[in-house]
Amino acid sequence: MSSSGAEPSIFSRIVAREIPATIVAETDRIIAFNDIHPQAPVHVVITTKTQQYRNVVELAAAEPALLAELVDVARQIADERTGGEFRLVFNTGPSAGQTVFHVHAHIMGGQLKEGSLGSH
Ligand code: AMP
Repeated sequence: MSSSGAEPSIFSRIVAREIPATIVAETDRIIAFNDIHPQAPVHVVITTKTQQYRNVVELAAAEPALLAELVDVARQIADERTGGEFRLVFNTGPSAGQTVFHVHAHIMGGQLKEGSLGSH
């Protein structure tokens, strides 16, 4: 399912510089910026510039090379900011905590505890 015909997502508005964000990396197809509500010492949102895919399952099925590029940019950000160790979280669906239906991952790092992965 595609959302390409929908209103611009909040992340598309960041790509278009319509709303501010602290951008930490950008390529032709990927953008990453600090999460506005950080949940870790380093917490960066990384997303595709296209909002065509609502979640990582759709992206992986349609454009695996773009998913691989996203992971590689995440790795570069982690190399710079967290010594190369990081958590990469793709919330998929509302009950998993997804609130923005434009595929993205959370890059989190900086002395995270093993037991902090999830709570309910
Ligand atoms: P999710 O809940 O997985 O859909 O993740 C959406 C993330 O986007 C949340 O962690 C929000 O804090 C973050 N977010 C929403 N709006 C902005 C914004 N304008 N700038 C930076 N991060 C944002």
